[in-house]
Amino acid sequence: MRRILANGTLVTPDGLRRGDLALEGDKIVGLAARIEPAPGDEVEDVAGCWVFPGFIDAHTHLQCWTGMDWTADSFETGTRAAACGGTTCIVDYATADRGVTMDEALAEWQARAASGAGCTANYGFHMAIAEWGEDSPAQMRRMREAGVSSFKTYLAYDHLRLTDAETLRCLEVVRDLDAVLCVHCENGDVVNELQRRVLAEGITGPEGHPLSRPAEAEADAVSRLLYLARIAGARVNVVHLSTELGLLAVRAARNRGQGGIYVETCPQYLTLDDTRYLEAGDDGFAGAKYVMSPPLRKPADVRALREAVLSGEVDSIATDHCSFNLRGQKDRGRGDFTKIPNGGPGIEHRPAVMATTFEGQLGPEGLCRLLAEGPARTFGLWPERGRLAVGAAADVCVWDPSARWVISAATQHQAVDYTPWEGFEAHGRAHLVYVGGELVARDGEPCGATPGRYVAR
Ligand SMILES: [Zn+2]
Repeated sequence: MRRILANGTLVTPDGLRRGDLALEGDKIVGLAARIEPAPGDEVEDVAGCWVFPGFIDAHTHLQCWTGMDWTADSFETGTRAAACGGTTCIVDYATADRGVTMDEALAEWQARAASGAGCTANYGFHMAIAEWGEDSPAQMRRMREAGVSSFKTYLAYDHLRLTDAETLRCLEVVRDLDAVLCVHCENGDVVNELQRRVLAEGITGPEGHPLSRPAEAEADAVSRLLYLARIAGARVNVVHLSTELGLLAVRAARNRGQGGIYVETCPQYLTLDDTRYLEAGDDGFAGAKYVMSPPLRKPADVRALREAVLSGEVDSIATDHCSFNLRGQKDRGRGDFTKIPNGGPGIEHRPAVMATTFEGQLGPEGLCRLLAEGPARTFGLWPERGRLAVGAAADVCVWDPSARWVISAATQHQAVDYTPWEGFEAHGRAHLVYVGGELVARDGEPCGATPGRYVAR
């Protein structure tokens, strides 16, 4: 039996095509102007809809201990929420904390993903490296063989960060493995110093968070990373780029002719600014909802990043989904903003927030490039994923651009008590979402199927 999605606008690597798409098992088996149904075939009329390859979110933290608390979303709830929004594959950050090998970390993350009632969306893993040692290159080689083709290091957070020398050694191994290094770019020393000073001035609420993490701390780290990558000749992904200054550092490196630089940003840095830290309510603590690193920035940064999205300087839009409840988790940082667990939710709403924000500017092909094709190419999921083509995975998002709805924590599937986009009027919605050929969500609601599997890259 085939499932035929008929009369849609297919968003293919060669452009938009009116026509039909056929799924059988976990593969796309037909793509044509008209596919004649055979007896037993199931036909869905998707006239008026854009048919995308399933969206890919290449930056998530599910079921993860972050040094302060466990994230609110598990693999079960996070992948279900992802699928409701149109995302069919995530790449989550497994982390080898200090004293833990990468092999142990990967086994642990595989066990976590398998521990619930099943994953709705597919999942792969990056490996974050919090400690460098003699054996790290051998461990990285084994990760590569296990389908982990991207790694992550931090230039901030004392319990996670590597020195510049260690980062350089890591980049050389990444180059030899033809992998990609994702890097959290903030100058950790500067952040530590400014956190201390801001608290000493008596600023203890959420508004202290952006004051302690200035744009310069990001731009310095982006610039340093790109020079280190140039010395090593390695490919790097600048994760969650949030500032115009950081963007200028990327642009400078690209203008010098440096290749292998990928840029990722997130919906929060394209839609929200640092006035949110002053949001009224909760005795001045409502701004804790937006305590994530890097922090929300100035309106001028939001404008610059939006222009970079439109000009093609951004390769992918991911969420950095790392959810904590406002009550019971974030509120442990009342009276000291450095103790507010860092992170926010977004895995469910990224496609709708981006389609709405860039309505009339990006179009379906631009959305496809940033939400599916870009991350697939950067992270080794292409050509199996990230494109509609015969032989590719039957991970599909049928998008209804005419749908109108309002984002709200009351109706979301993310297991967290708020959303940064409360009251956002969304234009467009995932109408039908397929993972491995199975229908997993319809009009924003899950269907109960959990076909999500580990994807080796
Ligand atoms: Zn992250």
